[in-house]
Amino acid sequence: MTTATLFNYSYRAQDGGGKLQPPPANLRRIVIVGGGSAGWMTALTFARAFIERGVEITVLESPTVPTIGVGEGSTPWLRGFFDSLGIEEAQWMPACHATYKCGITFDGWSTRPGFERYFHPFASMLDNLTMTQFVHNVEARINGADVHAHPDRFFIAARLAAGRRAPKAPESFPFDIWHGYHFDATLLGQFLQRKALERGVRYQSCHVTHATLDAQGGIASVDTREGERITADLYVDCTGFAGLLIDKALRTPFVSFANNLFNDAAVALPSPIGESIPSETVSTALKHGWAWKIPLTNRYGNGYVYSTQFCSPEAAETELRQRLGLLDADTSARHLKMRIGRVTRHWNKNCLAVGLSQGFIEPLEATALLFIQQTAAVFVDFLEAGDLGEAAHDRFNQQVNEHFEGVRDYIVTHYKTNSRTDTDYWRANAANRNLSDDLKRLYSAWMEGKSIAPGVRQQVIGKAYPVFSWYSIMAGMGIFPEPHSLRAPTRKEACYNMAEIDNLLERSLVNYPDHRDALARIPPRRTDDSLQIYLW
Ligand SMILES: Cc1cc2nc3c(=O)[nH]c(=O)nc-3n(C[C@H](O)[C@H](O)[C@H](O)COP(=O)(O)OP(=O)(O)OC[C@H]3O[C@@H](n4cnc5c(N)ncnc54)[C@H](O)[C@@H]3O)c2cc1C
Repeated sequence: MTTATLFNYSYRAQDGGGKLQPPPANLRRIVIVGGGSAGWMTALTFARAFIERGVEITVLESPTVPTIGVGEGSTPWLRGFFDSLGIEEAQWMPACHATYKCGITFDGWSTRPGFERYFHPFASMLDNLTMTQFVHNVEARINGADVHAHPDRFFIAARLAAGRRAPKAPESFPFDIWHGYHFDATLLGQFLQRKALERGVRYQSCHVTHATLDAQGGIASVDTREGERITADLYVDCTGFAGLLIDKALRTPFVSFANNLFNDAAVALPSPIGESIPSETVSTALKHGWAWKIPLTNRYGNGYVYSTQFCSPEAAETELRQRLGLLDADTSARHLKMRIGRVTRHWNKNCLAVGLSQGFIEPLEATALLFIQQTAAVFVDFLEAGDLGEAAHDRFNQQVNEHFEGVRDYIVTHYKTNSRTDTDYWRANAANRNLSDDLKRLYSAWMEGKSIAPGVRQQVIGKAYPVFSWYSIMAGMGIFPEPHSLRAPTRKEACYNMAEIDNLLERSLVNYPDHRDALARIPPRRTDDSLQIYLW
């Protein structure tokens, strides 16, 4: 069994018992090029570690290149990001029209009877009481026993989302939920910028045109359209898909994931939201991709992520508008192209790439901000350890690459296990044979009726998603023997009583408030020092 401890950090600008440590070797000046979410999250993470130790951190942002302006859902790790900075939900959430997220409903990805819809829950301490039963039933069902194995009935988060409740129990109810958030991406960027400036980060509005390389092939300086030459000890590329430093200047090779993730474009549109506010993202399979529906306090964010191999931007926009009842509305849509994959070296010479410049896996599980957060935080750990040689670069890059590959494999599983036959797009996804060895092993174990837990724990895929997420996706998509071939369970297989699980979770549910009410009175952070989450 694996547990994760979620720490509620108390904010301190730097550690060291009040005595300031010197900054890491040779690090006096950091220049971050790009002022999107990646630029400001990185600036805040670096500011916490280094600013009081005399390191100057400057964000350069082009006055003419806009931020991407999408990216409105998070994983639960974003909570740790704000906690580590000492920023309360009551402060940032209203400023960003933010809502709570208990997980994601996947609708229409599977056509298998009883499995047309399922919920990928965020973990909760209550799962400690129902996870064993879930995994037991799933393993019995893959071996042909007719027991209940759809994930939704086993998880409190699924019930919270179904009831539009917030994952915020009072402190007297000692079961915390590892929730994520939805937010307005532009407002989040502005909030992070304000915080970073308050904490001493400098800002310069200028368009970087060129980077000059030094004799070792690292970056010597960057030139701006405004006529300035700027130098630093470390350059951070947060220029989004432009990849101005990591790609254009350093020519870092890029590994495309296009042969197993076909989507390369998106169209986004807002729509009105009513009185009641859901606490989940809904991801609905459409003809050539999927649509997100993200609730904010003032609107829904919607988008259609699709593949241009199968569908034109005009057809995608029409399909999305039809779905939202906005065919004749004058709400304008935003069309975006996506480059799916990752660079080989996120830390290359004296340049670190963070955000879309380092790579992107399509937004199905809303993981991009997590990559930003982890890349910046792990990089700080490497700097603090003082080991900046080639071997450290390699270890760092391997760690980030494995995270990318683990997440990619989880996203690929959504497509590979689909059972739709309505379009070439879905048939091509199901027929896709470009699978990692980890995934092949996982699917084989599942089809042979074995536990997948040991394999997930040992392999790269387990570094991105815990065992229960793998059981949830495979069970939620209904990857089980055909219903007509199921047999009566043995007494051991049928040892858990679903009515007891329903009873336990329904009794717990009353401790969680209505989502809209909770947003109107956001409570302060819980005081627990650490919250144990059971990940299997
Ligand atoms: C369709 C879609 C949906 C998404 N959904 C999610 C989601 O639900 N959850 C999630 O976590 N992520 C999501 N993402 C990803 C998320 O939007 C990004 O990871 C996040 O916004 C960070 O972007 P960024 O800062 O790297 O780049 P950008 O926002 O593009 O910012 C780039 C910055 O670089 C600056 N810049 C560019 N060129 C220059 C130059 N020459 N000189 C100076 N400055 C320059 C720009 O001015 C801008 O400030 C989604 C992405 C897409 C495409």
